[in-house]
Amino acid sequence: MDIQKINQIFADTAYVRMGGSAEELKCAEYLAGICTEFGGKAQIQPFPVQMADVKDAHLYADGVEIPCKGYRIAGNAEIEAPFYYMPNTDAYSLSQCKGKIVMIDGYMGYWRYQDILQSGAVGFITYDGHINYADSDIDDRELRPYVSKGNKLPGVNINAKDAVKLVENETKTVKIVLEQDEYEAQSHNVVLDIPGEIDEWIVLTAHYDSTSLSTGAYDNMSGSIGILALAEHFMTAPHRRGIRMILTGSEERGLLGSKAWVRDNPELVEKCVLNINLDMIGSIMGKFHACVTGEEKLVSYIEYFASELGFGIGVKQGVYSSDSSPLADAGVPAVSFARLAANNTGTIHNSYDTLKLMKAEHMLKDIAFIQAFADRMANAVQIPVKREMPENMKERLNEYLGRKRPKEA
Ligand SMILES: [Zn+2]
Repeated sequence: MDIQKINQIFADTAYVRMGGSAEELKCAEYLAGICTEFGGKAQIQPFPVQMADVKDAHLYADGVEIPCKGYRIAGNAEIEAPFYYMPNTDAYSLSQCKGKIVMIDGYMGYWRYQDILQSGAVGFITYDGHINYADSDIDDRELRPYVSKGNKLPGVNINAKDAVKLVENETKTVKIVLEQDEYEAQSHNVVLDIPGEIDEWIVLTAHYDSTSLSTGAYDNMSGSIGILALAEHFMTAPHRRGIRMILTGSEERGLLGSKAWVRDNPELVEKCVLNINLDMIGSIMGKFHACVTGEEKLVSYIEYFASELGFGIGVKQGVYSSDSSPLADAGVPAVSFARLAANNTGTIHNSYDTLKLMKAEHMLKDIAFIQAFADRMANAVQIPVKREMPENMKERLNEYLGRKRPKEA
């Protein structure tokens, strides 16, 4: 993979590709085509995802219409109720939800949703964007099936500028109108197996889908290109262990591609000894991180390895919000690599995530380090990291995957 090829892939995939959409499948086919170019025969593996076409969505605040996007998979409704902005999540704040349409900061995650549902809220509002950005973009959001568990409240997403106005104007009553068709469709993983000498496998993952406003150069065509470069390398480079590339779909919708692959391939998962996941690399700005979901010893190993190669890195043990987590949850030690820019030099999940954030030379440097690590692991006499999750990581995975409530401030 050279600079020209990297820039070509970025340019060819500079379109929105949400999980389950026709554009996502188009991108899957394109990436499988890149594998064909270097002699790899990739499979496009489908898995089911819930979809919705929103026909109509409106939000009125004391009779004045506010631009919004309706939450997908949140049912159909027309409801008017008192407005309640809930920045805190303590018992008192929750006791004020009953019969109201509740606006929260940030994402509608599993616990927040259960909270407002059980507290008797009748609808919800979220917001994104930034009060100082020139645009008034609104992201397309969904009430994830594993969040609602079938108990749907109507919701809308609005821009941060309007969210501030709702509070500043002491809005009394809001009305949500939401009409949509819900159905099942397919999203796709792009899988390429490059067998080794022994039946142990290293799984290389990166998601290629994007969110609704983003052409996802940084998050995460960058990581997809990185994994393609590794796959190309291992087509000819020696490797004792098998290399399995999985470019995942619908990661942005809750890691759906990696969850589906783990669920559908238990016998293959058993033979995975390590996952290397890339989610955002090669940006102009930003600090290089490795997040190890596995034995603490691997943190030290990667620190020493990077030092030996002369590569700046910050390594920690933890759970990274990406496709490494379903694999780690199945017992596979996982390392997520990422070059993370500060918010003011590289934002994601909005229209500013474009090629402008990227530098092909930085891509090559990041890929070279990751490839050196992958080479070492692929050819190790024995994989140094144990194939079991330490208790602290099991705990973090339970929290991250919604099985245990994390402590909140
Ligand atoms: Zn990502």
